Amino acid sequence: MPELWYSAAPEYESKSSKSIIHRFVVKGHTGLTINPYQGCQHRCAYCYATYEWAPEFYDRIYAKINAAEILEKEMASWKHGEIDPVMISSATDPYQPAEIRYGLTRKCVQVLQKYNAPYYVFTKSAIIERDLKLHARYRHNCFIVWSITTCSEKIRRAVEPGTPPANRIFDVIRKFSDAGVCCGVNVDPIIPLVTDNDSELQRVVDCCKEAGVSNVFGAILRLRTDIWERMKMTFKILGLDVVEQYKQIFRFEEPLDANYVSADSSYQDRTLGRLKSMILERGMSFDFPKHICPKNIDKSCLGQTSLLSYVS
Ligand code: SF4
Repeated sequence: MPELWYSAAPEYESKSSKSIIHRFVVKGHTGLTINPYQGCQHRCAYCYATYEWAPEFYDRIYAKINAAEILEKEMASWKHGEIDPVMISSATDPYQPAEIRYGLTRKCVQVLQKYNAPYYVFTKSAIIERDLKLHARYRHNCFIVWSITTCSEKIRRAVEPGTPPANRIFDVIRKFSDAGVCCGVNVDPIIPLVTDNDSELQRVVDCCKEAGVSNVFGAILRLRTDIWERMKMTFKILGLDVVEQYKQIFRFEEPLDANYVSADSSYQDRTLGRLKSMILERGMSFDFPKHICPKNIDKSCLGQTSLLSYVS
């Protein structure tokens, strides 16, 4: 059995937070985000939120137990003018299994709605179905995005073993789109030599169309020292011998000791160009919807779950 990047069943722990709504910074642009949890049970090998080799991120989930109360105070005393759309969440999945036990995301959404704040949710979960009515009654002012990497169960089990199968997620998306909620899919990350071929991408985009998704976008995997180590484990699980090709696509030598390494720009242009054509051919938008896009952000950053560094 190959080495894995997580250990046992996750443990849950409660903690109190002093603040919950944070400003994040990407490429010099800013936005607002809330993270009701710290850590994530979805266990994606490519997760950008781990920051370092930290099995604890996947195995110990902290619930910020006073998140909604703090958010209520912060919203009641908001002094920064009109509120920019709030991202839920930038560094965890707000609808990971812990949400069934704690319900913190639901409570935070209720507070945002009370203060008429626009929000967009990034999730890989089907648990959000529990809150369908809550989001549907606020559909004029929210946007729900599911990050879907692959329709292949074999790949999903290897790369993001804590997430539900894509067909389960698409069933939930269908319910949201039938209820009039603006639904997006973020094909992120596109994993070179694993999920970047035409048939893989077309399966995802076709399912988006069938589920009533209006906005689809994506991003190519980026590597960092810890992410590269985990990706090599997934290659072993999948029986793929692609390390040398990765060194060419990402132009690095081992050991990889870097903050972030992007794929070669010609690879990126080619792959995202193919994805964009597939999306547009099917009559969907390759962008954020206008009614919810944060004003001051580089939109190319928004298709990347959990890569955002946020500052309090
Ligand atoms: S990528 Fe997102 S869903 Fe996956 S482990 Fe990281 S925070 Fe969780």
